[in-house]
Amino acid sequence: MVENQTKRRTASNSPSSYTGGITLKSRREMEAMERAGAIVGSTLALLKRSVEPGITTGDLNRIAEKNIRSMGAVPAFLGYQGFPGTICASVNEEIVHGIPGKRVLKEGDIIKMDCGATIDGFIGDAAISVAVGDVDEETQRLLDDTRASLYEGIAAAQPGNRIGDIGAAVEGYAKERGYGVVRQFVGHGIGRFLHEDPQVPNYGEPGKGVLLRPGMCICIEPMLNLGTEDTRILDDDWTVVTADGALSAHFEHTLAITKDGPKILTFHD
Ligand code: MG
Ligand code: MG
Repeated sequence: MVENQTKRRTASNSPSSYTGGITLKSRREMEAMERAGAIVGSTLALLKRSVEPGITTGDLNRIAEKNIRSMGAVPAFLGYQGFPGTICASVNEEIVHGIPGKRVLKEGDIIKMDCGATIDGFIGDAAISVAVGDVDEETQRLLDDTRASLYEGIAAAQPGNRIGDIGAAVEGYAKERGYGVVRQFVGHGIGRFLHEDPQVPNYGEPGKGVLLRPGMCICIEPMLNLGTEDTRILDDDWTVVTADGALSAHFEHTLAITKDGPKILTFHD
């Protein structure tokens, strides 16, 4: 995700990496987007299978990097504005941008893994939240509802609709269920750059904002919290956590807007 440009706060998501303008992909470019998306999807599927009590976030990072490179791609996040990982690994109250390392996952945790890959000059970006062993009912519901809110957003990403339709769909679904919807960070366009225009907030007004047109590729990425929507950034200058310490979940897909509707490029089981 990219930091909401209207609420800019730290240098770690400075707009220097953010490219202005919306890009429409040609058919050939869309094929490269599909290749990048497929690599990200397969990597997330592998990561999901790898999560178990006792594994470290650094182990998961190595698994992801090896998989991405084995398919001839390069990790899109590694070195991005100095980020030191192939994946962002965020545990429990960490929302996004967690740095993978020595932290050991334990039964009952939830881990969010966000992953990007570049191939033939184009980028895929997606995220999942996974339970470590058994989690309580409320936590499982947070995971299920956050994933479902992503699909509500995707369903609204029809050509002729607008960015506000996506945000309204995500927000409506989440608010009905009582979640805090993170506003500080938002989804984004994607292509040759990880973060392109337009911004894709998880809130909005139906019928408002940028028109969705075939050839656009965007990332929708709801971040839902059990408590407040407010966030804060840890001293490592990366890790975003909930201001109240409550649990947070995050799911993301890269999708293409086609004349027939949204097409998920980072599909995985
Ligand atoms: Mg993203
Ligand atoms: Mg992402």
